Amino acid sequence: MSDWQPTTCMRCAVGCGHLQKPAADGKLAAVKGHAGHPTTDGSKCKRGIDETVDPKGERITEPLIRRGGELQPATWDTALGLVTSRFIEALGNNDGDIAVLGSGQQTNEAAYALGKLARGGFGTPYYDSNTTLCMASAVSAYFKAFGSDAPPPTYADIPDAETHLIWGANPATAHPVVYRWITESIADGDGQLLVVDPVETKTAADADTHIQPTAGTDLALARAVLAAVIDAGDVATEFIENHTTGYEELVNSLPELETAAETAGVSLATVQRIADALTDRTLLYWGMGVNQSVQGTGTARALIDLCLATGNMGPGSGPFSLTGQANSMGNRVCSSKNTWPGHRPFTETTARKAVSAAWDVPLSRLPETPGPGFVGIVDALARGDIEVCWTVATNPAAGMPDAGQVKNVLRESFLVAQDAFYSDTVECADVVLPAATWGETEGTTTNMERRVSRVRAGVEPPGSARQDLDIIAAIGNRIETGLFPEPPLEPAAVFAELSELTAGTKADLAGISYDRLDEELAVRWPAPDGETEGGYRYHNEGSWSFETESGRAQFSTATHSGVPEPLDADYPLVLTTGRCTGVYNTGIRSRAPDVEVANARVHPETIGKCLGAFDRGQTVIESRRDSVTVTVEADESIPPGMVWVPIHNPAANKLTLPEVDPESDEPNLKQCAVCLTAPSRPDRTTADGPSVPVDSD
Ligand code: SF4
Repeated sequence: MSDWQPTTCMRCAVGCGHLQKPAADGKLAAVKGHAGHPTTDGSKCKRGIDETVDPKGERITEPLIRRGGELQPATWDTALGLVTSRFIEALGNNDGDIAVLGSGQQTNEAAYALGKLARGGFGTPYYDSNTTLCMASAVSAYFKAFGSDAPPPTYADIPDAETHLIWGANPATAHPVVYRWITESIADGDGQLLVVDPVETKTAADADTHIQPTAGTDLALARAVLAAVIDAGDVATEFIENHTTGYEELVNSLPELETAAETAGVSLATVQRIADALTDRTLLYWGMGVNQSVQGTGTARALIDLCLATGNMGPGSGPFSLTGQANSMGNRVCSSKNTWPGHRPFTETTARKAVSAAWDVPLSRLPETPGPGFVGIVDALARGDIEVCWTVATNPAAGMPDAGQVKNVLRESFLVAQDAFYSDTVECADVVLPAATWGETEGTTTNMERRVSRVRAGVEPPGSARQDLDIIAAIGNRIETGLFPEPPLEPAAVFAELSELTAGTKADLAGISYDRLDEELAVRWPAPDGETEGGYRYHNEGSWSFETESGRAQFSTATHSGVPEPLDADYPLVLTTGRCTGVYNTGIRSRAPDVEVANARVHPETIGKCLGAFDRGQTVIESRRDSVTVTVEADESIPPGMVWVPIHNPAANKLTLPEVDPESDEPNLKQCAVCLTAPSRPDRTTADGPSVPVDSD
């Protein structure tokens, strides 16, 4: 096979169309942007190309079983035999359940098969995907505001926007191609860029206006802006009257503008600046800085309220969450914590009947409740409510809050880790199942603007690694015959089963097939037939129809309730996390094996105030959960009083807080209280008071 093959980049949810070229040695020889691809017209970024052609991670090439404390090679038969006997044992116990943790990095086909096995085969409520760690608050907000998941706009709206308001996101680093379109839109149309972020990120450094709220106060700021918009009368009265509900309740719930601005740590003039910018046609993008909060849903809804109140809905405008993982969107259409395939409501009888009939499993086996979510599942493992856990393409031992404790829990459980690369989670496993990765896998993915496209296998996986889909089916069929065909599965047939099950739903894929994708390369849902595809959602030639019961968009009323872990004398600094250019998530594909120590960024003023906490360029960051030694870089882009660590190093989440948003179950990963101590004094006690003076300015 030597020709260029069309495929889709799986490094982030922009979903760039790529061409890949296999080489004779079984590796991809080259990858480049696909100029004929309708999503990105040949655009790509360096990270996407580099990590596809030559990922740095260490591959797993054969099944492994822990014997005498060590992971040792085993045959597939032995490994699958051990896995399925432990799974059957767990299912046979009274109230026996299996924790299944999936990923936004799986193809649609693998995500669908895993959800089918977890919910329909095992009947477990303890199933979730790591998309809950990053997008659940946005999803929850969309459902409540519009009655359906996913952002209304598409990439086609970016050139037409005049104001680009980016809130708690850094697309210049995380979504380079989308960011390029944003900057081109600004340059071409004399537009403006406003960025809300406590840190001066790469994106913020480019902004016409950079707004730096106090960490964890985004909801207060959003409500202050709403109050300013309403005070100024800059509201879209006709749109509000004809297409929304709850406006009066919203107005009555708003805090005093001055008080909310003060809570957010910004001036009234700054609030007014955002309010004024919204009078132009605005796309309001947001990311993990909004979602990863105990009030993530409330904050995302407040951002949607800003769009609704100002009439920033329709072409060239609207709320647009920026998805991180490549197939987070697809994962949610296939099966997720709160919905069945096609976003069918979890507890609705008609939906449950349709799913049990399609899967040919008893209705009574489908779990009654969607379960406690990613963090709650690990809590259930910690309590011993469940003893067996299966992770697929996810690294909770590094990606979850209070990661040190998560690692302990996973070590104590019977853990099956299915992955392509060694990871912090694989280290804890009892059985490791080697999986194919991108470039080796046939399937589809769905990008952040709802476009489904093909991913293609250019080369064979190394050693005896197998397709995710085939591993899932092999386990499923050993537990219940007939749930899947005998592996190897045909991905096109699995996609056809998924798309049929979504027919007539809000996330209708019925009109999408592999044949259509081969021809058109990418098709946006909803696509109820083979001729049409989705565009701007809820809007058709000037008329609006939302998926809520009333058919109207719903305003919200949440107000800022304080951060879950306020600073105090013992922990006087705020910790936040972010991304570095060219590094992938928890870093397993891009982390050099010898980089054990994270590099923290701290404002020089903060360093100056706590010189005693540093020793030869290193310090110890301590939270109420754990402490980690880091190297320190003085950096004026970090506000005084804040410590910034990259999400890519497993040390970061040892420190973070496992509190979750009660509406979305998404953890509060972006803010917690820490202090700094000298590496030579790891036994620091608080009796002598903090080693860093309290400074909340
Ligand atoms: S922007 Fe994202 S999808 Fe596009 S090439 Fe880069 S990593 Fe891949």
